[in-house]
Amino acid sequence: MMEVRQLTFFFRGQSEPVLKNISFEIPEGKITSIIGPNGSGKSTLFRCLNGQYKPQKGEILLKGIPISRYSGKKRARHLAMVYQKHPQLSGITVRELVTTGRTPYGKENPRKNEEVVDEVLKQVDLIHLKDRYMNQLSGGQQQRVWLAQALAQEPELLLLDEPTTYLDIEYQLEMLKLLKKLNEEKGLTICLILHDLTQVLEISDQVIALKDGEMVAKGTAHEVLTKENIEELFRVKSEIFSTTNGQKFIHYLF
Ligand code: ADP
Ligand code: MG
Repeated sequence: MMEVRQLTFFFRGQSEPVLKNISFEIPEGKITSIIGPNGSGKSTLFRCLNGQYKPQKGEILLKGIPISRYSGKKRARHLAMVYQKHPQLSGITVRELVTTGRTPYGKENPRKNEEVVDEVLKQVDLIHLKDRYMNQLSGGQQQRVWLAQALAQEPELLLLDEPTTYLDIEYQLEMLKLLKKLNEEKGLTICLILHDLTQVLEISDQVIALKDGEMVAKGTAHEVLTKENIEELFRVKSEIFSTTNGQKFIHYLF
């Protein structure tokens, strides 16, 4: 779906690149997780992937075509991104906000736009709240509205920057289950930044680990999430356990 080749990115005026010679693929129909400590370049990488930042070196191909060659509208029909932080909106309803996700398709077909908005609101289980104002929703519900806005773009590739960070555990799991379902049932390709490594183990087909702007590991969750890699990345010691039903989880040692 997406191919990143030898990507190097600097912020203007900085001597050290924030991303150094990064190459990986986001395979179609799979879930790829990006992990790494704070400041390792994860969010910057995402802004390169969605065309917002122009890398000084390397290439990013979306379906074989350089991302820089897509118009904003065309790109938004293939790729949608859910950001880590959202503005606190008050004077806009759920339905109005989700409808902005239809912008790349124009207003020629209002019936279709309405259908898609209803459909994605059902997918995120918010159809019953569609006329509520954003500031009348809980944090978990608001996060699902932003997801619905991205889904309204009908993307093939969805990027999510820490979609669970500000949610309580119930909503974290709800969000991950929903993403898994969209992946399995709709074939949506997903790439997301996560902090909880047990959740990474649970959800990912592929994991990419960044540290100081370099890709230090890439592979399946079980290949990447070893005690050694966790210590190198986060400087913490850990143990990896398996439950009787084969689920793995990570325990950090104090
Ligand atoms: P992560 O998402 O992994 O926490 P970021 O991609 O946000 O990391 O940041 C990577 C590095 O780039 C950090 O050192 C950060 O301070 C720097 N950085 C991020 N955004 C900017 C910016 N707009 N201008 C200059 N430096 C930035
Ligand atoms: Mg970040």
